Amino acid sequence: MLVLLVLLASQMVFLVPSLWSQHQAEGAALQRVQKSQLQAAVRNIEPENLAVAKELIGNKLTGLTLSDAQGKILVRVGDVPEMVEIYPQGGAEVISNKSGTVDTAWRLDGAKESTLWALVRLDKSSVFKRTISRTVSYLLVAVSISIAGAMVALITAARFYINPLNNLVKMLRESREASEGNIPDPIEYSETEDIDPLADEFNSLIEAQKKAARQVKVKQQYLEFAAHHDPLTHLPNRLMFEDALKGTIADAMTGQLNFAVFLVDLDNFKFFNDQYGHLVGDKMVAEVGNRLRTMMRDQDLVARLDGDEFVVIQKDVDNRAAAEEVAKRLMSVATQPYEYRGFTLKASVSVGISCYPQDVNSFEDADALGEEIVNNASVALQESKSNGKNQYQLFNESMRSRLTARLRLEQDLKLALQEGQFEVYFQPKININTRAITGSEALVRWKHPTNGYISPEIFVPVAEEAGMIIELGEWILRTACKATYELQQSGYPGLNVAVNISAVQFTDGNLLPLVNKALKDSKLNPEYLELEITESAVMHDPEEVINSLHQLSEFGMRLAIDDFGTGYSSLAYLKRFPVDTLKIDRAFITDISNDNDDVAIVAAVLGLGKHFNMKVVAEGVEDEEQLQFLKAQGCDIAQGFYISKPMNIIDYREWLERWPYGVEGTKRLEDLHNDMPKASGSDFA
Ligand code: C2E
Ligand code: MG
Ligand code: MG
Repeated sequence: MLVLLVLLASQMVFLVPSLWSQHQAEGAALQRVQKSQLQAAVRNIEPENLAVAKELIGNKLTGLTLSDAQGKILVRVGDVPEMVEIYPQGGAEVISNKSGTVDTAWRLDGAKESTLWALVRLDKSSVFKRTISRTVSYLLVAVSISIAGAMVALITAARFYINPLNNLVKMLRESREASEGNIPDPIEYSETEDIDPLADEFNSLIEAQKKAARQVKVKQQYLEFAAHHDPLTHLPNRLMFEDALKGTIADAMTGQLNFAVFLVDLDNFKFFNDQYGHLVGDKMVAEVGNRLRTMMRDQDLVARLDGDEFVVIQKDVDNRAAAEEVAKRLMSVATQPYEYRGFTLKASVSVGISCYPQDVNSFEDADALGEEIVNNASVALQESKSNGKNQYQLFNESMRSRLTARLRLEQDLKLALQEGQFEVYFQPKININTRAITGSEALVRWKHPTNGYISPEIFVPVAEEAGMIIELGEWILRTACKATYELQQSGYPGLNVAVNISAVQFTDGNLLPLVNKALKDSKLNPEYLELEITESAVMHDPEEVINSLHQLSEFGMRLAIDDFGTGYSSLAYLKRFPVDTLKIDRAFITDISNDNDDVAIVAAVLGLGKHFNMKVVAEGVEDEEQLQFLKAQGCDIAQGFYISKPMNIIDYREWLERWPYGVEGTKRLEDLHNDMPKASGSDFA
């Protein structure tokens, strides 16, 4: 339609002026012809004969008035217009031009060169009619041309645009419907070049979408994998293990499937990490994980739970003996040595096993059953660890009761802390040469409300594991410092005190500010405080301990390595420790009189002490013979039941007063040390 109108309009631009000019030209021609006919009729005609002009009246000239130059009317005929004063200077002039007629005044040449004026009325309707009929025919032609042009445009548009576009839309719709909500496939389309770019654009959009969708899918797969796998070993992680365990339990409950859960933990992993670095540690974990995975069948599951802990689900286990066989194989593959950057590494593992259905009770509740079987394996693993590691243990009920007892102990310890059931005892130490008291070791005591005294060897490790040792240790330190300061004030100014510090306090306890505060609050001079840390704790993380030890010694307190000889000290480290004292473990002292090996060890420790300029304290001296031996060997200080058992503060104060050899740094010592009597057994007990 638009094309039609445009064509029509553009033709009108030419037609209308041409019609108008034709119309004008015909009008002028009509006047010219009539004038020349009238002129011919009146030329050289005497005025009285001018009536002949009447014959000219017809369908074109409808009215005529002839007058002479003076305005005298000579002829008047037909449909003449009102007489007007019309004697202009010359030429014809149109007077009026309305409703199909035109009134005009002409100047004519009459007889004998006289001038005649003609006022005429011409009928122009024929000119109008012709113009109208011409206009109509022109319009018809123009409309036809426009229609034809529009049709051509329509056909061309349909051929080249509308149909292909419809086709394209149809194909897109079909492609979308066929894709059922997914990204549709690219379309194959090549009908006209004009539409191709559209189709190409669509296809490239689809390709881009598909590519993005593929990337999203890969990412999703990766995230899915990452959520269920451990990045180091690529083994399933705890989440996936829990899912797998649920599935296994569901099968077991319906299908009579028996299975076993193995918890596998690397022994001394922290030591490996510290000794060789985390890269080697990681490598070892990955290697062990890989070996465990390779050893098990496809239907079994090997997952990594935490740092150095793996779990294995073995399906179709006939009996506990079969599970034991698997545990042996797991241990054997894990302990095979392997090379890494020039190191030959050999891990050992501890394994805890729990079997379904033998070891469980919660048959009704799948969740509880899963928890129970894993807990049982964990109890068995702890048993392996506490029995010396590098072994497997099958869960049994007595383990559970041991664990329950331990948990109860933990609860009781919490209560004991709240209720202040602890006490600090003091065990004196003497200078072996003078037998004067040098100070004491503070030892914690716990009197359980129903079970009586419990050994620190039992509850300290539990307090360490439960994190309570930080609070308890602080209390012991503060109590020991305060009591010692008070003793110093009451006449024993040279008395010192040694306080045991657990490895946990060392690594997590923010020890330095805590010790400083205890010293400040008690007013005890730092040089009278010695901190004892066991050799095994030192060797647990030597680099970190060396740091802490340096910080502490800078503040003036003294440091001792406790139970020396049992903790596999690397002698290379020893020279880097800012340590003042080595305490030989009492196990070596006990057998000193009948075990040559122990004699050699004690002698060696004393030699080391001398070399590194450290004092050596012998623990657990129980008789004079041991004391004499130590003296002969050049040992500085002795501590043990032979001198005194640990005592509470009241007994300790009384004991100090009774002690015949005095206290170092007091007047009594100077008085007495010259004529030192030989101690009898009863003096010491
Ligand atoms: P330790 O630090 O080596 O303490 C010496 C242990 O040997 C004490 O045992 C003491 O009573 C005992 N002992 C001393 N002389 C003799 C002797 O002649 N013969 C025998 N058979 N034993 C003797 P205790 O008090 O039972 O403490 C055991 C361990 O518990 C301590 O060993 C120490 O490692 C830990 N411990 C004790 N008190 C504390 C404490 O306040 N804090 C920390 N962190 N650990 C403590
Ligand atoms: Mg100690
Ligand atoms: Mg000791």
